[in-house]
This record gives sequence, C-alpha cells and structure tokens, in this order.
Amino acid sequence: MSAHAAAPAPWIAAQRTQLLAQRGHAWLLHGPSGLGQFALALELVRAWLCEAPAGDGAACGQCASCHAIDVHTHADLCVLMPEQDMLAQGWPLPEKAQTEIDEKKRKPSAEIRVEAMRDAVEFAQRTSARGRGKAVLVYPAEQMNHVTANALLKTLEEPPGDVRFVLASEAAHQLLPTIRSRCLGHAMDWPGAQPMQAWLAAQGVPGPAAEAWLRAAGGRPHDALHLARSGLAPQAWAQFPKALLQGTPAMLAEARPAQAITALQKLCHDLMACSVGAAPRYFAAADLPPAPPLAALARWSRALMQAARTAEHPYNTGLLLEALVAQARNVLHSATAIPPARS
Ligand SMILES: [Zn+2]
Repeated sequence: MSAHAAAPAPWIAAQRTQLLAQRGHAWLLHGPSGLGQFALALELVRAWLCEAPAGDGAACGQCASCHAIDVHTHADLCVLMPEQDMLAQGWPLPEKAQTEIDEKKRKPSAEIRVEAMRDAVEFAQRTSARGRGKAVLVYPAEQMNHVTANALLKTLEEPPGDVRFVLASEAAHQLLPTIRSRCLGHAMDWPGAQPMQAWLAAQGVPGPAAEAWLRAAGGRPHDALHLARSGLAPQAWAQFPKALLQGTPAMLAEARPAQAITALQKLCHDLMACSVGAAPRYFAAADLPPAPPLAALARWSRALMQAARTAEHPYNTGLLLEALVAQARNVLHSATAIPPARS
C-alpha cells in the first residue's frame, strides 16, 4: 500500500478550496451517502494540519504532518468512526478498545462509542504536538447516539483554542439539532456525469462499468467506486431483479444483511417509480420485472425499513437473508401486468 493519499476528486478539491476560504472551527458536511463526505473531511483536516499549505490552503502532501495523516498516526488528529469502520480502513483504535476486541470481550462497535468521544474531548484539551492546532473528524456523525453527541456538545460550544472539528454525515436529519446549530453547514456538491465518469476511469473503472455502477449507486460517485471495488460484476447487479424471481441471487448470498437490504430497497424504489409511470433510478428499465401493485410495494418498503434498523444485530444472518428473499419473491409474484416504464 502506498502511504501517499491519492489526489482528491476534482469536485472534492473544489469544495475544499471553497471551505478553506471561510472561517469556521466546526463544519458539518452533509448530503446523501456517496458524495465524498469522508474524502472532503480528510482533505480539510490535512489542510488545517499541513506545515506548508499551498496558496489555496490545500495540504502539500509532502511534509511530516501530511505523511503522518497518510499513515494514520498523526498525534494532533482524532478520527472518530464506528470501530468496524476504523478497523476496515486501518485507523488505530484506542489501546483499551483494541485490547477488549482482541480478547473477544466484545465485538467492534457499529456506532461511535461514548468512550471514544470522551477520549476525543480530552484530546481537545491537550496542547497540540506539532504546533499546527488539532483536528477532530467525526464520520458518519449520525452514528453518535444521544449520549455520545451530548459528550461532544460542550466542547463544540466552547472549543479550547486550537482545535477544529469536521463532522461528516449522510443523514444529518438524525443529528441532535443542538449539534447541527453549533456547526457551519455545507451541503455536498453533486458532480456532473462527465467528471464522475472521468474520475472513475482514472480509478480503473472504465466507461461501461462506470456507467453501470453509477446507475447502481443512484449517481453517487464515491458509492459507485465502492461498488466497483466490491468484486461484484456489473452484470450481477443488472440481473439481480429477475434472478430474485427464481431464487436467491448469488449477489445476495454473499452480502452482509445491511448490503442485501440496501439492494432490495433500491429494487423496491425502482418498482414503485415504474408503477407510477416514472423512470427507474438504480436499474435499467429492461432489467426490471413487472411492477407489483403499489400497496404491496409500500408494505414491502416499510418492512425493509424495519429490517434495516436491526440489520446490524441479526440473530442469524442466513435466516434473515432467507426471510428477505422470500418476502421479495412474494411481492414480485404479486405483480399485475404493469410493464416497467421505458425511459
Ligand atoms: Zn503538508
């Protein structure tokens, strides 16, 4: 692995320049998932802590501070993410948390733990190690429960001199209003199709695949890249709706419950769109089976939302997937002959 961070996408770089031109000790980056919230948050933090920032304020990418961030060991940066995400992305956990997980006393958390937030508050009070101030990055901010959010509140309100915050969220409406009101808000830009495709090509996802993944991701570039790197073939996504009519699609058999539910929610969304004569968003119209009655889809949509709330703690992943597939097939087989809208 190269320790050098890849150059940010052009729309991320543009937003970074825009935000660095404004004063603010606490930013809240918000918007739907997959628009690069974490990438922009990390760019801001790199710029704040860089020892030799460029004219527009961007990090140099060369200095000791930039390097320390690239290898995830900067003493003046505190990254707060759910432990599952920290581990998956190679960010170090606090020693105590790591020991508990190593000794199998508990599983890595799916939310931001209040203990980690208390450590961050203590971090905010300390003197900076490198003299360029300190930064706290929280992502996804909606993964703070109320206790955790309240632990952050006072520090956000009266921050010790040299600490800055960036909260990045994909569901800012779930944040406490008091957290939202103490941050400067920035709505993530939605890039155009052409820059997104060029960027995906530069990441090794060529034209047709990029188009397929952008569709599957609902036009969100960072989600599309994530899908492209998931090992799934674009055809598997295209064939998924009709494969569901036959049995369990291979794509679902290997998915985590949350991923399976997201895929089913996208299918449900597109069938609802078709049943009211609108164009589908995540699948090509030709890849969709006939739309079931709207009432059946509405019930399915509610059931999927319910399942999403408990997806991180299933008592049995296999049984949950089986139940989800059975439910989907029931709905799909209740289809009357409403052909999908051709866009
Ligand atoms: Zn630098």
